[in-house]
Order: sequence, then C-alpha cells, then structure tokens
Amino acid sequence: MTMTPEQQAEIDEQRAAPRETLRTVSEGMEKHLYSAIPVLDHGFVRVIDYMGDDAAICQAARVSYGKGTKSVQNDEGLIRYLMRHWHSTPFEMCEVKLHVKLPVFVARQWIRHRTANVNEYSARYSILDREFYIPAREALAAQSSVNNQGRGEGLTDEEAARVLDILKGDAARCYDHYEEMISGDGQAGLARELARMNLPANIYTQWYWKVDLHNLMHFLRLRADAHAQYEIRVYADAICQVVADWVPFAWKAFEDYRMGAVTFSAQMVACLRRMLAGEEVTAENSGMSAREWREFEAALRG
Ligand SMILES: Cc1cc2nc3c(=O)[nH]c(=O)nc-3n(C[C@H](O)[C@H](O)[C@H](O)COP(=O)(O)OP(=O)(O)OC[C@H]3O[C@@H](n4cnc5c(N)ncnc54)[C@H](O)[C@@H]3O)c2cc1C
Repeated sequence: MTMTPEQQAEIDEQRAAPRETLRTVSEGMEKHLYSAIPVLDHGFVRVIDYMGDDAAICQAARVSYGKGTKSVQNDEGLIRYLMRHWHSTPFEMCEVKLHVKLPVFVARQWIRHRTANVNEYSARYSILDREFYIPAREALAAQSSVNNQGRGEGLTDEEAARVLDILKGDAARCYDHYEEMISGDGQAGLARELARMNLPANIYTQWYWKVDLHNLMHFLRLRADAHAQYEIRVYADAICQVVADWVPFAWKAFEDYRMGAVTFSAQMVACLRRMLAGEEVTAENSGMSAREWREFEAALRG
C-alpha cells in the first residue's frame, strides 16, 4: 500500500485549506500539490511545493518588471528558442520540491544527480517500515545477452515463482532480524544506525528532493529514457506527467528538442551529406567504428 489512511487524511487536510496568494500559480500544478502519484508497489512521488510557471521562464529571460508576457504565442516561441539554443538559466528560475518514496537501490541511482537538494528519512533516528519492493511478475527478466547493463527475455513462470519466493523470504528474514536486534525487550538492543546494515537494498526509503527545472529536465532526459533501469524510469515517467501539467510550453519544447531529438557526430553529419548527394554510404566507407555506425543506423531508423 502506498499511503496509510492517516497519511491520506493529512494530505486531504492540506488540500482542503487553500489560501489567496500574490505568487505565480500554475493551474496544472495546483492539482498535483500534496497528492501522491503511486509508483511501484509501495512508492510514490508527490509535489510539496513549486515556484514559477512558463511565464516565469519568459519573465527571467526578459528580466522584466511585470509578468513578462507579451502574448501566449510569444511566450511559447521564446521558450522554444531558449530550449533549442541551450539558453538554460531561465529554466533554472522554476523549482519543484518533491516527496519521493523509493527502494534504496533506486535511491542510489537517483542520488547521482548532484544538482538537487536532498533530505532523507533518517534510519539512525527512526525505525524503517517493513516495506520492500517485490517486482511485479512481468518486471522479472533474465540478464540481457546484448546489453551487460540491462534485462532481456522474460522468465518462465516456474523461474519467476522461484525468484519471488527468494526475494520475499530474504526480505522477511532480514526484517525479522532487524527487529530482533533493535528490540529493547529485556536486553540493551542494538542502535538503529547499526541494525539497519543487514537490510536489503529493496527496502523503501523516503526523501524530499528539491531541484530547478533545468536540472530536473536533465534528470528526466537520462532517467525517463529507454536505457534507464525500469525501476527508476517509472519514477521519472511520473514526474514527466507533473512537468507537462506544470509548464506545458517548456515541456513541449523539452520533448521536441531533447527527449525526441537525436545528436549526430561530425562524422555522422558528413555521412548524411554524402547520402543526400546520392552516394551509397556503408559501414565500411563511413569512417565510423562498427558500433557508431550501428547507432547511426538506429537513429535514422527511429
Ligand atoms: C543509463 C545510465 C547508466 C549509468 N551507469 C552508471 C554506472 O555504471 N556507474 C556509475 O557510476 N554511474 C552510472 N550512471 C550515472 C551517470 O554517470 C551520472 O552520474 C548520472 O546520470 C548523473 O548525471 P550528471 O552528473 O550529468 O547529473 P548531475 O549531478 O545532476 O549534474 C548535472 C550537470 O552538472 C554538471 N556537474 C555537476 N556536478 C559537477 C562536478 N562536480 N563537476 C563537473 N560538472 C558537474 C555536469 O555538467 C552535469 O552533467 C548511469 C546513468 C545512466 C542514465
């Protein structure tokens, strides 16, 4: 379960107390405020706070006194121009603060994105909940034979059942031992900061994560991508929904000029020019390595 009834009641209470403000409000983002988007079996992403909207990006780009908006079309055109030309600082004027509940092994990948502010639940101070990520049947797959950093064919039913049994058994046993070690029942009980060391990497942790829109889009470019591990990609996908509602113009520009864009090397561009001039360009006469040629072909195929 993602939320306990008590946690849901706290969220409902926050959502039931709107206040008037002079600050910029993004209507699309208001509907997300405080609510949790469920991710994986016990995880979630929820918006705690945000600053700015599409107009704020234009306002910063024009360093204006008022709203900065000339017209909606002008704003969209300006945002697309900024994105196309990597004029990134106006996007840093928007910020979002998220509350994320995620398995520890996902957190290890996530924390590599250094350009955010993080405050994590303290397992020195508090006792971790008995909540472990157990993959859905369809998320279980064998090691990929072509990509060392990924999964390939799905598992048979029998193999999947064996793996799930191991995962559930290990999680239960480790958590039982964790509880046993910290128990003060007739014994001193081990400190929480030490007892946690036997917990597996699929236990859930939580953090507040604050980041500006420029760096958030960099995160999404890498983690909502097909090359990212499924378990972090589903979090990135959830955040993509939020960003699309928060700053629709910036989101569309990001989809067009980053997510959906392809980068060609100088060699690739030279090959493209030769192709357009009618020359038959092959792996052998391309001047590229076999791997780069495959990537080039894949980019052209789409
Ligand atoms: C598919 C995939 C596979 C990966 N595999 C591995 C792996 O096998 N092993 C591994 O260790 N990591 C791996 N990573 C993590 C990856 O190498 C990056 O650490 C991670 O994606 C964060 O990217 P970043 O540094 O650009 O982001 P951020 O830390 O958010 O930084 C954003 C940008 O700010 C600048 N910046 C930030 N800090 C510095 C700094 N100290 N010095 C200079 N510039 C800085 C850089 O321009 C950087 O691109 C993988 C990532 C992906 C997406």
